[in-house]
This record gives sequence, C-alpha cells and structure tokens, in this order.
Amino acid sequence: MSSTAIASIIDGKAAAEEVRRQVAARVAEAKRRVRLDAILVGEDRSAVLYATNQARTCAAVGIEYVLHRLPENAGEARVAARIEVLNGESAVQAIMLHLPLPEGVDTERMQALIAPEKDVEGVNPANIGNVVYGRTSLLPCTALASLELIRRSGVALRGASAVVVGASNIVGKPIAVLLMREEATVVSTNRFTREIESFTRRAEVVVAAAGVPRLVTGEMLKPGAVVIDVGINRVPGPDGTLRTVGDVDFDSASRVAGHITPVPGGVGPMTVAMLLRNVVEAALRPTRLTTPEPPAAPEP
Ligand code: NAD
Repeated sequence: MSSTAIASIIDGKAAAEEVRRQVAARVAEAKRRVRLDAILVGEDRSAVLYATNQARTCAAVGIEYVLHRLPENAGEARVAARIEVLNGESAVQAIMLHLPLPEGVDTERMQALIAPEKDVEGVNPANIGNVVYGRTSLLPCTALASLELIRRSGVALRGASAVVVGASNIVGKPIAVLLMREEATVVSTNRFTREIESFTRRAEVVVAAAGVPRLVTGEMLKPGAVVIDVGINRVPGPDGTLRTVGDVDFDSASRVAGHITPVPGGVGPMTVAMLLRNVVEAALRPTRLTTPEPPAAPEP
C-alpha cells in the first residue's frame, strides 16, 4: 500500500470471518439440519478443489455438505434430471451448481432449472425479479458481498449517488439492483459508456466490476468515496510472474477514496461467506417465491 494512502481499508477477510461466526451461531440456534447440495459435473481441477474447500468451510459452520458428482459425459439431460430430483426433495434446502460445466451442457439453461427458493447462488433469473419485489435476498453472492462491504464503510446508502462500473448479468446488474433497493441513486455503466469519469467523479460509492485491470484511478474519484473493487485479474508483475490485481488502481485510488477494498482480501473472501449466509436463509426461511397464493375467491 502507498505510504500516502488516506483511505481506510475495508477488510474483506475480517468481515468474512464475522459472517461465518454469525452463520455458525444461527445454525447452532436453529437446532435443525442445514444442508447444501452441490452438483459437480466432470473433473475440472479448479471445480474439484473448490468443492473440497467448500466441504471444509461448510463443516466449520455446521452446514451439512452433500456433493453430487456426475461424469464428464453425463450430458445435459442427466444434469437437468439431477437438478429436478433435488428440487423435489424436501430434505434438500439449498442447491448450487459447480462451474465450468462440460461442453454441450448449457450453463444458463441448467441454472434456470434450480428451484428459486433453493437457488443459493442467485443464478436463476427469477431471483433477480424476486429481489426487485422484495420476496427474497437470494442474489449472486458477489453482489451481496459488495453491498455488505459498502455497509461496513458506514455510508448511508439512501439518497447516496452510486456508480457501478460493469453491467454483467451475474455481477454488475445485481449490484445495481441491490443499490436501488437501498434507495441509492444508481448509474449503471458498461463498456460503451462515454466519459465514465464524469459519473464516477460525482459518486459517493463506486463499485468496479468490469474485468479491466486498474480501470478506475484516483483521478476518476470524488474525495472520500467508498470504492469496492470486485475485479480479479491476473497480470504480469515487474518480475514477469503473474499476480492478482483488481479493476481499481489501488495506489492512486486509495489516496482519494475514503474507504476502499483491497484485491486480494476484499470482495473475494466475502463472496464465499455470502454463499453460507444464503444457505442459512434458504434452509431456515423457506418461502414460496414465484407462485404466490391465488387471491381468495369472493364470498358467494
Ligand atoms: P463480464 O466480462 O461478464 O462483464 C464485464 C462488464 O463490464 C460488461 O458489462 C462490460 O460492458 C463492462 N465493461 C468492460 N469494460 C468496461 C469499461 N472500460 N468501462 C465500463 N464498463 C466496462 O465480467 P464479470 O463476470 O461481470 O466480472 C467482472 C469482474 O469481476 C472480473 O474481473 C471478474 O473476475 C470479477 N469477479 C469477481 C468475483 C468475486 O467474487 N470477487 C466474482 C465474479 C467475478
């Protein structure tokens, strides 16, 4: 970190640890089984590693973890059938699908099959609508992590001006929706936005989620802004080895911002913790989401 930095660092690791403690306490208090069912198709190394870590993380907070493994050549019909079976089982409370899926298995089509009330990654498009209507909080974990970290800065979101840099379905748009739900005034920007700095310079909150290394610099920021860096980019360092940087130029931004998340150690660890929180939400507050009860028939 630069020695002239003035921003305070929003520590994602510490925040994630706090969320894990809260989740463990809720699971213990619930005195009910809380369970996550994950589907892993094929042998992708990073997905297998993620599943192994996830089993450990769940165990540490008292969540039962059931991994359903399907072979690489399972095909879309078998993956879909497994999702449908889990949707229908009352013992299954929370479902997630490990990525990447093998070639020939359509990710979005499979995600849209997950029952919205069990969709703890918030990947069924129905859930963004449910969030807009205040019926659920099951949104993609990165978006929830960003909001949690903004809250930790202490900024009052109602009435605040916020800019989201990047508008993908799974990251940028859900973040913008969450900020709108908090009654911030939200500008959503994308790769075609002209003079992006004219928006970011006026914003009290900037969330960078474009996948462009060090896109947001200090001179694009309003002094004192809260800056959340969602980006994870692997770039060569001075010695040629790859290192991870965000979408924010930390050195210049931390001299102007009031609060800033680092990369690594910011949104990343909090995202993992938000999945655990979503599992508890889904397990302990089962509600009907997409098919509201029909209105009562009028009295004869
Ligand atoms: P994406 O490529 O799907 O979408 C990028 C979005 O940014 C698009 O809307 C695009 O129009 C916009 N964009 C690109 N260049 C821009 C520019 N110069 N100005 C403004 N907008 C621009 O990427 P994604 O899946 O949304 O991921 C974004 C970043 O977040 C990536 O670095 C990714 O690795 C990271 N990510 C982090 C986590 C986490 O847990 N921390 C999770 C998911 C993704």
